[in-house]
Amino acid sequence: MKLLHSIVCYLLLLTLFSTPVLSEEHAHDSVSSTFVSTQVKPGIHFLQGKGGNVLLSTGKDGLLLIDNDYKEMSSALSDALGKFGGKEKLKVVINTHWHGDHTGNNVMLGDTAQIISHDNVRVRLSSAQEVKLFEMKTEPMDEAGLPDLTYSKRMTLYFNAHDLEIAHFPKSHTDGDSIIFFNDLNLVHMGDIFFNEMYPFIDIENGGNLTHYTESVAAVLKRIDEETVVVPGHGKLSNKAELKSFHEMLLGTTAEVQKMIAEGLSKEKAQKKGLSSKWEAWGKGFLSESIWIGIVFDSVA
Ligand SMILES: [Zn+2]
Repeated sequence: MKLLHSIVCYLLLLTLFSTPVLSEEHAHDSVSSTFVSTQVKPGIHFLQGKGGNVLLSTGKDGLLLIDNDYKEMSSALSDALGKFGGKEKLKVVINTHWHGDHTGNNVMLGDTAQIISHDNVRVRLSSAQEVKLFEMKTEPMDEAGLPDLTYSKRMTLYFNAHDLEIAHFPKSHTDGDSIIFFNDLNLVHMGDIFFNEMYPFIDIENGGNLTHYTESVAAVLKRIDEETVVVPGHGKLSNKAELKSFHEMLLGTTAEVQKMIAEGLSKEKAQKKGLSSKWEAWGKGFLSESIWIGIVFDSVA
């Protein structure tokens, strides 16, 4: 069972970024290739596919998407948009960050829609990128898929009668993360600053930072309430209570790794020793406990 779990985790890791190395067939085995759609507010749909969670707004101004999954999900995404008038109605795409499981369909969508992101997303998508932890390399994206409009700290977009605050949270999951607050709907899309019920990946090679990541989660917790609909980058649709558990896990596991460092343990020895059993469930969703300890160790050592 443990071996099977490790294999499943490994396969998930391999499919995390663009240029997935799995064959379609294998990828289909592990994760669905259609979107499961849930209406979370009038005109707001939560779409779960293979990569990062997608949010769709429909209304008088047309369609707006936050993130767009892997490139291999393009036909599934076209089908999903087809139910709401099709790609021609799509006016705006927001990228929460550059990773390929969130931006894989930028090129397909960018010929008709305006793509919005933080400044650094355009910089990273314009050039070759590497995530050594997963041995992943990506090529520069075609011009059509690059963000058309970028911002540095914060911007507001009025669309479909919603007031969308797009805010940069520096050095968190990457160096170009946006969190999108639908202020009128009490809804927030957190991108990969929230992995619900699982250890998060933090791209410290590309500007991410555990301390700031944890602070970003705390900052969101401060401004939402028990009624807020919280969309994580990965995992099921969520709420404040689950985001709070995530924050407690970040603080608790960081403290345990810091203690092991203070005791003089190397990264390998810390990984072998492991964390308290109370965190066990967090290692079953996406990253193993060992990889998480490595990320924390590299962040705080
Ligand atoms: Zn990501």
